[in-house]
Amino acid sequence: MIESKLSKSQYLRGLQCHKKLWLYRNRKDLLEEPDAAQQALFDTGTDVGLLAQQLFPGGEEIRFEEGNFDDKIQRTKDLIESGVKTIYEATFKYDGVLVMVDILHKGRSGWQLYEVKSSTQVKDVHYDDVAVQYYVLNGSGLNIAKTALVHINSQYVREGELDIKQLFAIEDLTESVLEQQDEVVETLELIRVSVQGEEPDIDIGPHCSDPYECDFTDYCWKHIPEVSIFNLSRLRGSKKWELYNQGIIEFNDLPDDYPLNSAQEKQVEAHLNGTEFLDKPEIEKFLKTLSYPLYFLDFETYQSAIPQFDGLRPYVQIPFQYSLHFQINENGKLEHKEFLAMEGEDPRESLVKKLVEDIPRDVCVLAYNMGFEKGVIRNLAEQFPNYADHLMDIHDNMLDLMAPFRSKDIYLKEMKGSYSIKYVLPALVPGLSYQDLKIKEGGQASSTYATLHLIEDEKEREEIRQNLLAYCKLDTLAMVKILKFLQSTVFPR
Ligand code: SF4
Repeated sequence: MIESKLSKSQYLRGLQCHKKLWLYRNRKDLLEEPDAAQQALFDTGTDVGLLAQQLFPGGEEIRFEEGNFDDKIQRTKDLIESGVKTIYEATFKYDGVLVMVDILHKGRSGWQLYEVKSSTQVKDVHYDDVAVQYYVLNGSGLNIAKTALVHINSQYVREGELDIKQLFAIEDLTESVLEQQDEVVETLELIRVSVQGEEPDIDIGPHCSDPYECDFTDYCWKHIPEVSIFNLSRLRGSKKWELYNQGIIEFNDLPDDYPLNSAQEKQVEAHLNGTEFLDKPEIEKFLKTLSYPLYFLDFETYQSAIPQFDGLRPYVQIPFQYSLHFQINENGKLEHKEFLAMEGEDPRESLVKKLVEDIPRDVCVLAYNMGFEKGVIRNLAEQFPNYADHLMDIHDNMLDLMAPFRSKDIYLKEMKGSYSIKYVLPALVPGLSYQDLKIKEGGQASSTYATLHLIEDEKEREEIRQNLLAYCKLDTLAMVKILKFLQSTVFPR
């Protein structure tokens, strides 16, 4: 066997794609930094891991900063020998593979290995994750009676103190993990061969995002242009890969008889010939569904795996901010209201109170991708029954400005196959852009607000609050401008 040291995370990298591991070990310079959303996910994982330790309280922790890995392995050994029943981050090495076990607990019939994940269900990759840990611990001579995955129970609703036993679900994976042991040996052998040689000749494929988004996509995907068959709207992933594997990458390469629906036809035609699609009768039909006074609403939300306040389930969207532009009549003055909750507090009730104050009953409310806004309002109505009537009035009077773009009643090549406001806005209103703002997208707004209370400097906090307000305000102003564009196109003055 070829000797090559691997950590568990490297094993999982190699399992996803040999090249992903090879690049990680040989071309760290190409590794992409996690974006705000990915970083938030990592941070959530750390918080959830720490909290899950309370399922088995009183254990000893092998701290990451405590010496090198050999020291950690030795300390784990010492703790086991001294009769400690629970160890967090217990560290082992066998066959050149290093693993740190989230929770190792000694039960009546032997040791139990618990891997903690912040997901709400067991995924295929979790079996691989636990299987390689079992391989190492078993090989190290430990009697493992049970292997399990601890994950978030999405049905838990917090009332009062956090109930750790309800927050987490434990799934026993022992049987499958034992069955997978031969596979682990084979995988290790293959991975080791691949890391020894030259860069593996592996093309891009569905594995680039399954089970994780690869952090070398800039490097491997550089031959894919900004607009390609991968942007072809509403085409199933498997179909895109079928095309790619036939060497069809750009719209130009598509065979003439390739079956496209009308939206896809428009997209291809717009891209190849610069044709602008504007179905005036359909847009007019949409515009006639609107009425004044007209309110433009946009929420910003964040999610937390660990419910922070009463009545919350894990990962439910918690609104903390909204922007509201409104016009009493079509030629009336454009007015603006906004709300941003105080950081570190439960934002929901104060937001609800202000929202029902700011939006009267029986008015037309426009959102962009209203499914999201409606979902937030329904949750709030459930959580605050005193305001449910008014909230559901707003909900029921909501219309979606995204509708004409989703159906491609209007389509320009600058929209790059997307109907997201981030593409539609620069295509229709080039002067208005998110680029000059400090906060440029929703994920960044969420993580900024979720950690705002940790910033001690008041002035800095205030500055960040202003950045959040500016971002959300642009979202509704963008809607106003997009609507104006549609109106002036259909009813030119
Ligand atoms: S981008 Fe795809 S092909 Fe490239 S290393 Fe990652 S998974 Fe492998």
